[in-house]
Amino acid sequence: MNSGQMNAGVLVQPKQLELQTRPVPPPGPQEVLLKMDLLGICGSDVSLYLGHRSNTPFPLIIGHEGIGRIEQLGANVTGLQLGQKVVIEPNFPCGKCSLCWSGRSNICLHKRIFGVLEPGCFAEYALVPGQFVWPVPDSISNEDAVLIEPMAVALHALYTAPARPGDVLAVIGLGAIGLLLTQLACRMGYRVLAYDRVSEKIALAEQLGAIPILADSSEADLAKSWQKAGVNTIFECAGAAPALTMAIAAAPRGANVVVVGLADQASSLTEFTLTRQGIQVLSSIIYQHPLDFQRSIRLLEQGFIQPSKIISQSTTFKQLPAALEKASKGQDSKIILAV
Ligand SMILES: [Zn+2]
Ligand SMILES: [Zn+2]
Repeated sequence: MNSGQMNAGVLVQPKQLELQTRPVPPPGPQEVLLKMDLLGICGSDVSLYLGHRSNTPFPLIIGHEGIGRIEQLGANVTGLQLGQKVVIEPNFPCGKCSLCWSGRSNICLHKRIFGVLEPGCFAEYALVPGQFVWPVPDSISNEDAVLIEPMAVALHALYTAPARPGDVLAVIGLGAIGLLLTQLACRMGYRVLAYDRVSEKIALAEQLGAIPILADSSEADLAKSWQKAGVNTIFECAGAAPALTMAIAAAPRGANVVVVGLADQASSLTEFTLTRQGIQVLSSIIYQHPLDFQRSIRLLEQGFIQPSKIISQSTTFKQLPAALEKASKGQDSKIILAV
């Protein structure tokens, strides 16, 4: 049993993350209390940290990528056991709105977002609805398991495009999602041109099977090289408005551009370019519940992908303030923290 108190990473205000002592929350009906084992820092944690989200309910225990063991079961939780290792699916769609009913729970009208709009898992313990934790098979290492959530994001993005294995993709921006998308696509038999400005990240993409390209070309050069390589799908994972503007302008005739990044600045496009060239702009955010987590877990279980390959630093939960500050510099592909 726990002592009733826990350490928690509380974002008090932008740029001020404190490790505070908080009471361990008791699980309500349908909830489970997790004792956290391993956590991952995501780009959205960084944007909360930097104060880029206007609706953050400060002070907030942030964090949404994590695995842990079930410490307590609330009333009416079925199918889960004490001590079981689980991964958190941190977006909780309502399951009842028209979007959930039409298979688009990723954009549910009433979605709860763990660690963003309500307390998350950067703590020794966390409460999660039992419906949104997934048992992790023993054959999956903790380091791979903690990346199941971003892998589900990457998988959903890849499946959003009508491209098929054998096609040529361009992935712009090699943060965690860009790299996981690259790994998955390479393993599945796509040819991937991987772009970033950080040489360590393109080197990693090359190890994952992609063709690494330092992102410094002009729009005209990019258009020429995509045309020549036969690129039919471009994934904008950089979350930078100029990158999307350039991707749309340089896309070969008939290509799809999939927007995965979360830039909040305006990009620009020219109607006639889109219509004449037959460019489709699609978008992808998070994942479909429950399918995409199930798919990701199965792919890991089969040893088909090893998302832990993108981990750039492993540290401890006590180092969270420094780790978040480091993540905010944008050089890391994934920092994980042992609790
Ligand atoms: Zn995330
Ligand atoms: Zn809904």
